[in-house]
Amino acid sequence: MPASKDDVARIIVRECQHRGYNRDDCLAIMSALWQESGWRDDVWDPTHTTYGIAQQDGSYPKRFDGAEAQVTAFFDRLDRKRGGVDIWLLICWLQQAPNWPSAQFWWDHGRRDYLTEIKSRIVNVTPYLDKFFKYSPATGGPSVPDNRPAFNEFPIWSDNFSDRGGKKPSLFLLHTQEGGGGNAAAENLANWFKSANNVSYHYTISQASDGGVTVVDCVDTDLASWSVLDANSYSINLCFAGSKAAWTRDDWLKQANAIDVAAYLAVQDAKKYGFPATLIGTGGAYNNAKAGVADHQFVTNVLKIGTHTDVGPGFPKDVFNVALAKYANAAAQPPAPSPSADVLASLKAVRAELDSIIAKLGG
Ligand SMILES: [Zn+2]
Repeated sequence: MPASKDDVARIIVRECQHRGYNRDDCLAIMSALWQESGWRDDVWDPTHTTYGIAQQDGSYPKRFDGAEAQVTAFFDRLDRKRGGVDIWLLICWLQQAPNWPSAQFWWDHGRRDYLTEIKSRIVNVTPYLDKFFKYSPATGGPSVPDNRPAFNEFPIWSDNFSDRGGKKPSLFLLHTQEGGGGNAAAENLANWFKSANNVSYHYTISQASDGGVTVVDCVDTDLASWSVLDANSYSINLCFAGSKAAWTRDDWLKQANAIDVAAYLAVQDAKKYGFPATLIGTGGAYNNAKAGVADHQFVTNVLKIGTHTDVGPGFPKDVFNVALAKYANAAAQPPAPSPSADVLASLKAVRAELDSIIAKLGG
């Protein structure tokens, strides 16, 4: 049975409040989805290409699973593009041209009538907003701080994936590429395994020479990538494009922004799939946990699957761990997270190490 309008409104409001979108954001999201489908979870577009409340294409694996799945998948992808962008433009970017590099690029080159169309639905959805959105900014409702770091994200979907066979991800694993590099490293790697080479990762990531980070989505995290043999079905895999397991700590710290974004993605996925957003280890040293965040060598040494030893001993796991804690705490304790004594101590240690590296470099 299709979801009722009240059901859809409740789901949208719940996701907004859970993910820290305010009342104005909620209005924009409700309006856009009304324009897309009239909030019906069982309608095709006239060309039989897009389906459901958010009119999702075949890259959304759960689009036939009803209102709940459609709306949460919409938010999952909206979240990834968030950060300093007007909510209306953000939605236009996601719904009209998600492969384009930015919301601004959509505004410069896209079909601007879409913005007028979705805004025309404010009148339709306002009664639902008033009925279900209990808090407004003026009355001090709960909101989660938007701590998303700056990065550019777009998909280059790979054909190299499998069903998870009913398993849920319980590991987030880091990898090196052992080749590649340059400002378009993440995009180049994603293209390399788009439809060949029998390998894939959920994410490729790289930091360009100007410090900007690019994340390419290659396999939906509901599906298994081809990264770690028999451990594929229960892991999410991210590859630092252009990296090598032989890198030194200093080599890795040139990708510090990408390391920070990788931690953010790990926390988002840990939260989504319900595994701990904590570090088991990297570079051959692991604690006893079987679920959490680790690297490919964990699969080799602990799970006894395969022979790979990335990401290597030079990977700055202390820096990565601080970033994990930063994003995990912000997610767990809104609205005013304060770092624990442990995190503060390791932040100080990292700071001291960075200071000494800067001193050595003489600038
Ligand atoms: Zn690997």
